[in-house]
Amino acid sequence: MKVSLVLCPFWNVTEPPLSMAILTSHLKGRGNTVYNFNLNLDLYRECRPEYKNAWTGTDVQFWFDESSLKEFIDRHKDAFDACVSKVIGTGSDLICFTVYGMTGPFSVLLSEQIKQRAPEKTVVFGGPECFDRTKALSLLKAGHADYVITGEGDIALPDLAALLESGEKPDSCPGLLFMRDGEPVYTGEPEAVSDLDSLPFPDYSGLIASYDPDTSIPVQSSRGCTNRCVYCNETVLWPGYRYMSGERIFREIEHLHGRLLMNNFVFHDSLINADIRRLSEFCDHMLDYISRGIRGRRPISWGGSAIIRPEFDLQFLKKMRSAGCSFLSYGIESGSQRIVNRMKKNFSIDAAHDVIRDTREAGIRTIANFMFGFPGETEDDFSETIKFLERNRGYLDAVAPMMTFCEVHADTYLGNNLREFDISGEDMHEVFWNTKTGDNDYIKRFDRFESFYNKAGSLGIKVIPDFAESFVSNRIFHMIRYYKHKKDYETALELCRKSISDG
Ligand code: SF4
Repeated sequence: MKVSLVLCPFWNVTEPPLSMAILTSHLKGRGNTVYNFNLNLDLYRECRPEYKNAWTGTDVQFWFDESSLKEFIDRHKDAFDACVSKVIGTGSDLICFTVYGMTGPFSVLLSEQIKQRAPEKTVVFGGPECFDRTKALSLLKAGHADYVITGEGDIALPDLAALLESGEKPDSCPGLLFMRDGEPVYTGEPEAVSDLDSLPFPDYSGLIASYDPDTSIPVQSSRGCTNRCVYCNETVLWPGYRYMSGERIFREIEHLHGRLLMNNFVFHDSLINADIRRLSEFCDHMLDYISRGIRGRRPISWGGSAIIRPEFDLQFLKKMRSAGCSFLSYGIESGSQRIVNRMKKNFSIDAAHDVIRDTREAGIRTIANFMFGFPGETEDDFSETIKFLERNRGYLDAVAPMMTFCEVHADTYLGNNLREFDISGEDMHEVFWNTKTGDNDYIKRFDRFESFYNKAGSLGIKVIPDFAESFVSNRIFHMIRYYKHKKDYETALELCRKSISDG
């Protein structure tokens, strides 16, 4: 069967999409012909200069706002129509969209166009946004998709393709939602891959040509997380914590290094150090590979997200460095022990300092992520975050402050326990939420973000990504969005006027 895999904006444009490469491999392994459409990257490259900023992630609301998206499509009509024609032109029977929160609205608009021009095509939606069955059902009922896969697509998508090709009913494929005789049919709990070692290597062959040779290639050695931070939905989206052996992930990197001649790898795991024994085994394989000589190919580097844990001592980190680890990113989030405890992050601030220091001393680029205005964060707590920056100024290569400050998602412990965290449920919004007392709102969080940004600059610590600077300098624009959301149109208008008069 011919299958098209489509990724719509907005998504990361700096590296090829891992999920598409994995699904391509699964589908090809079952005899399908697969076409990759990385429309996210295509439209980013072709769009007018004033829209490039939308891909920086500083204005995520843009991608959820139907009128903004329709305007974008109108202004890029030729490019959009060409995308639709290219997808239909493959003659694919199955057109599959990977739907994350931010790719959802655009995927819906594109699938509408495909359905209008080629109603005989079967459209499938899958991806994390579809794991929530209520959302999946509304996509289905609105006619945006013929099938929605409500869990991991590794097993369900190739099974669905096989069943449709043989003319059989899809009822035997777990995890599907579809309509029959006007009623939704759910085929039961989706099947998740239990043994990640059994996964095929991701197939980037149809994607890689669009990227330069230094691009980071995503790999994934685990799914899920062993932690339960209250603001995170990782454990809701990915059942259990599953991981590959150190040898299996090494084989994948060896394969990609040999086949694609790519040498930068980034682990898309929630954390790469949940199991130190496995990570150590991976490093042993890498060290052996490096010692055998890489036969003229560029040396491999890799990195990813990690949690603070005492086993991450200087000796172990030096071993990782020798095995090619070039960066580690730690989710510190706050310098206040009280707030870290409230987040249920399971580490001590002193341990975080030690690990950050040792990481840097091992020669690994050290990055720390921070968020602002976690419910309950006081000025004193925020001062602790600033002190943490000062204390670690010599060890941090970069900090990554969250540009939405602190999100409250419905599918997290935080989102399900608003009262416990004194969050007002009225007019609830993931980014623009308020506490009941009003002492923690978007403006307060922006203030703390800005203070943090300035402090990092004064300490000579790089702030990433680079567009954090334009985010801060465009404060007025973000405030206009905030006041529009609050339906305080008078203040929004006043800010618009001010923005125009300021030039
Ligand atoms: S924030 Fe990170 S460590 Fe915490 S649960 Fe989520 S993925 Fe795991």
